[in-house]
Amino acid sequence: MIEIKKDYNLTKLNTFGISAQTKFFVELNKESELKELFLSSEFKNNEKLFLGGGSNILFTKDFNGIVILNKLKGIEILEENSENVFIKSMGGEIWHNLVLFAVNKNYWGIENLSLIPGTVGAAPMQNIGAYGVEIKDIIENIETYEIKTGKKKIFEKKECEFGYRDSVFKNKLKGQYFISAVVLKLSKKQNQNLKYRALQEYLDKSNIKVGSSKDVSDAVIEIRRSKLPDPKVIGNAGSFFKNVFVSKQKLKDLLAEYKNMPYYEEEENFKVPAGWLIEKCGWKGKRIGNVGVHEKQALVLVNYGGATGKEIKDLSEQIIASVEDKFGLKIEREVNLI
Ligand SMILES: Cc1cc2nc3c(=O)[nH]c(=O)nc-3n(C[C@H](O)[C@H](O)[C@H](O)COP(=O)(O)OP(=O)(O)OC[C@H]3O[C@@H](n4cnc5c(N)ncnc54)[C@H](O)[C@@H]3O)c2cc1C
Repeated sequence: MIEIKKDYNLTKLNTFGISAQTKFFVELNKESELKELFLSSEFKNNEKLFLGGGSNILFTKDFNGIVILNKLKGIEILEENSENVFIKSMGGEIWHNLVLFAVNKNYWGIENLSLIPGTVGAAPMQNIGAYGVEIKDIIENIETYEIKTGKKKIFEKKECEFGYRDSVFKNKLKGQYFISAVVLKLSKKQNQNLKYRALQEYLDKSNIKVGSSKDVSDAVIEIRRSKLPDPKVIGNAGSFFKNVFVSKQKLKDLLAEYKNMPYYEEEENFKVPAGWLIEKCGWKGKRIGNVGVHEKQALVLVNYGGATGKEIKDLSEQIIASVEDKFGLKIEREVNLI
């Protein structure tokens, strides 16, 4: 039986720690409860928001609808052969717990994505990525429910239209599907991806010879802990902005003026780190009232306590405008605004 609550406060359910109310709130603990949820009048007659760990969301106002907190749990091995293993995880599992499940068995492919906050169900939404790996590299398929009809649908990888911090669920089909479970294809053979320079450098410096996927996972955890602010200590949602892709010509123009500008070649385009652009505009470490730009990482906006979502949004708009003014580049938000 589901219990739909009224006028529920979401402060503890978003990592920015923003105080916002929702008109209705329900926790989903079993897949079988979805039927009852879809038939309820609160669900049918209101705007819907599926919520995982709240680590990629900014409430700029109260939510005048129903928030469904995804707590569907369970991880199982579906199938395996000598090369690969197929693991199904329910969407309400904590992403890092799934990573630990895999690396503790020495399966490969997921280890670079260690310690990314949030749930498994939200991970494909923006095609989570870190240290040279994206979830698209290990997705086999995704189980969903169509919100309008309540019908189950499986999306094969190519139907998900994964891109840089993007998928069909964040884009064309936004708000239309609930991701109930994810099936990953991992490798049983040693297969490390150490292309990301900072990761290789850390392993060299610490004299770690990679023997298991857990070695890589432990290294990623160490690096992340030293770099990123812990939302339990200071409210944030990780990178607030996406990096920017520019053409070859634009890159040439920028490099003529800023010789030391970092960039990465990706397929036809060039990726410029938004953090560098923001820092060059003088925002790093800046504080305005209750909000600010993190002192170590200019991509991260923080709530020093008591901030409203609107204050964070206003700060992000000022940053976007100043980057556009200085570099002629429009940076985009990664975080979902409500
Ligand atoms: C300190 C920190 C570091 C981070 N580092 C990274 C990083 O390295 N790489 C990276 O990619 N991200 C990173 N993030 C962002 C965040 O962790 C990911 O985007 C994560 O996948 C969000 O999961 P969540 O469960 O918290 O999603 P939520 O914030 O709860 O939801 C995000 C969006 O997905 C929708 N949604 C959630 N669950 C479902 C579902 N089951 N079905 C349909 N829609 C759903 C929500 O409605 C919302 O629009 C970081 C965040 C923090 C706070």
